Amino acid sequence: MSETTFTCEGCDDDAVFWVYERWSEEAGMATEHEYPLCEECIDSVGPQNLDGAYANYLFKIDTVAEAFGMTTL
Ligand SMILES: [Zn+2]
Repeated sequence: MSETTFTCEGCDDDAVFWVYERWSEEAGMATEHEYPLCEECIDSVGPQNLDGAYANYLFKIDTVAEAFGMTTL
């Protein structure tokens, strides 16, 4: 285990992706949620809050840079 390892929110494996979603539950108020996921759990995730879509709605998946930096592909 490395200090830069993040734990998957779904299964406690090492996470390699960050999921980020920003939506609005109240007009003018942004709500954000960001959480780490492993390669397996990322397959079943998607936008959860499209009901709150607004002008600045955002759903994105980033890689955990450290996870790829330590891996030789
Ligand atoms: Zn997982």
